Amino acid sequence: MTRTVYVNGSYLPETEATVSIFDRGFLMADGVYEVTSVLGGKLIDFGGHAARLERSLSELDMASPVTMAALLEIHRELVRLNNIDEGLIYLQITRGNPGDRDFAFPDPQKTPSTIVLFTQAKPGLADSPAAKKGLRVISIDDIRWGRRDIKTVQLLYPSMGKMMAKKAGVDDAWFVEDGKVTEGTSNNAYIVKGGKIITRDLSSDILHGITRAAVLRFAREAQMEVEERAFTVAEAQGADEAYITSASAFVLPVVEIDGVALGCGTPGPVATRLREIYLDESRKAAV
Ligand code: PMP
Repeated sequence: MTRTVYVNGSYLPETEATVSIFDRGFLMADGVYEVTSVLGGKLIDFGGHAARLERSLSELDMASPVTMAALLEIHRELVRLNNIDEGLIYLQITRGNPGDRDFAFPDPQKTPSTIVLFTQAKPGLADSPAAKKGLRVISIDDIRWGRRDIKTVQLLYPSMGKMMAKKAGVDDAWFVEDGKVTEGTSNNAYIVKGGKIITRDLSSDILHGITRAAVLRFAREAQMEVEERAFTVAEAQGADEAYITSASAFVLPVVEIDGVALGCGTPGPVATRLREIYLDESRKAAV
């Protein structure tokens, strides 16, 4: 099926949607993005994603081409036009097409930003087999830039990390900097020890996951203890369980780190429970 996508104010068949070769997103990775999941035809955590998008734009002195209210309507219209029940909406805003290549930012009055949205249908998104099986991860050096709190489209190293994991025959990689885990290639990382949830504290070292914020809130509401601090791979290997969160994976258990099985080597009760709570509560609050 040909998707209907959104580009700079128009809904078009994907085969007719184009962006200039001079677009700074293409030439410089000068752009930001968001991914919002859809369950039951409704948007999960939209408010959080919209708020983080505004922050990413503002940190990069980039103007938003649309209001956040308009953005919600575009998301909903794409869900409707593409008949998405379970899936994802990808959104990207770049500093636009100045008509040539130059390192300096163009004048935003003369160069409007580019906005693109498209849907990805993922039937069975909430019923992932990985939730029952758990993920195996390896650790790799975190050599990304220092503003990981801005959700930019500079995803080459995370892509390389996924390939390193694939070559190692596992599911994903966790980044390590100065001996401590920062986050996963496209998710936030957690361990559980003695019932306590441990995850790196917020700073420019990691993306401030929207799913992370929701899951930690639900965990605290369920009287689970949460400690926000960095941890080492060795500490993770000695943990009772581990898991990751992201808008597209929700909560997924991690059962092995660098070849060492965690606990019994099967998904732990905390990750399993948090996944259930997150899915239940998010469905209720979906818009
Ligand atoms: N960290 C990184 C590096 C990511 O790419 C993502 C997903 N985009 C996350 C964390 C999780 O963020 P969210 O829960 O908002 O999807």
